[in-house]
Amino acid sequence: MPPKQKINVITLGCSKNLIDSEILMRQLGDKYIVEHDSNEQADVLVINTCGFIGDAKEESVDAILQAVEAKKNGDLKKVFVTGCLSERYKAELKDEIKTVDGFFGVNELPEVLAALEVDLKKELLGERLITTPSHFAYLKISEGCDRNCSFCAIPLIRGKHKSKSKEEIIREVKFLASKGVKELLLIAQDLTYYGVDIYGKKEIADLVSRISDVPGIEWIRLHYAYPAQFPVELLQLMKENPKVCNYLDIPLQHISDRILKSMKRGLGELGTVNLVEKIKKEVPDAVLRTTLIVGYPGETEEEFEQLLDFVEKYRFDRLGVFKYAHEEGTPAFELKDDVAEETKQDRLDRLMMLQQQISFDLNKQKEGQLLKVIIDRQEGGYYIGRTEFDSPEVDNEVLIADSGLPLTVGSFYTVQIQKADFFDLYGEVVTGA
Ligand code: SF4
Repeated sequence: MPPKQKINVITLGCSKNLIDSEILMRQLGDKYIVEHDSNEQADVLVINTCGFIGDAKEESVDAILQAVEAKKNGDLKKVFVTGCLSERYKAELKDEIKTVDGFFGVNELPEVLAALEVDLKKELLGERLITTPSHFAYLKISEGCDRNCSFCAIPLIRGKHKSKSKEEIIREVKFLASKGVKELLLIAQDLTYYGVDIYGKKEIADLVSRISDVPGIEWIRLHYAYPAQFPVELLQLMKENPKVCNYLDIPLQHISDRILKSMKRGLGELGTVNLVEKIKKEVPDAVLRTTLIVGYPGETEEEFEQLLDFVEKYRFDRLGVFKYAHEEGTPAFELKDDVAEETKQDRLDRLMMLQQQISFDLNKQKEGQLLKVIIDRQEGGYYIGRTEFDSPEVDNEVLIADSGLPLTVGSFYTVQIQKADFFDLYGEVVTGA
């Protein structure tokens, strides 16, 4: 029996891509020694690419070119490429980079496995090789998107919205809980559209409620909610169900009526403001994360200042700002990308400067509070964790000085917040939670 070859799977892009890598890696264990995002030398490399916008595409192409260079130098036997860039530009990539052993799209698991000489094991579908710390995991509840936001290439890459059945999702949740997962981050391209295709109506609230019944799951976090036709029953669930974090990631993208119309978001300024006010009224301590785009075609200084005023007035707890990227194949590609790069950067900086102060002020209000914190890791003399108001990798963290009292990674503690910083909190454990 020849020794097992080593395979390294590299994931670029978003958490949805990460899940695709985890599903692939779960199928490989019999034939390969499986590594994820490793710098170690391997026999085979699979690059799960991102093809969303310019910078991400560049990063993916660089990774492919490095890999084929390593293969040329004999440091790698085989290189395979999957994911969104490969889905979007398969023909061009095949033409231009002939030394790659295979390019695959986003829905080609059987084909990838065949190329790796591995049989698809149906009994393992719904299982993943979890790459996040074992106490939290992402849960993708659907694939693709039926929306037509003018700046977005995702529907071109990931296709139409396709919900997983509730049974399939609950099976996956039970698998994750059996591996020690306590916190689930629900993700999709359009989370709140869940169920429309297979149940004829939005079923996200019922799905979340069923997930909360799975023993072991303690926190459920909602990402990528869509603002138009927002299912308000989710707010009721947030209020009533202690396992549903008072946290909502809801990209709003802009506030100007003209720009929201051009973006085909299906909701204008008034609708957006009414929704934000409704959420804040229904769930007063809900933390809102949103995403905004600056420099969209034709964006005037007045329209940008309208956005600044909106952020100043509604004070989002968490904010991501992106510069508009002119993406071929998207509806907005027909428009002139007429906002200069420096102006885009200047607007991004001004918005993040404002947000830094807002984040600090909101963090200050948490001083003295007792908050439930999950410990993610130990680092530099601190235990580092998060409250229900913080998603991993993108939001604030709680730093607890290592006082010699050992804390367990993946466990919950009640922490008294003592000091606030711009994007982090410092605190002390008062009891186990
Ligand atoms: S909702 Fe809009 S921005 Fe989000 S994936 Fe769909 S088309 Fe893209």
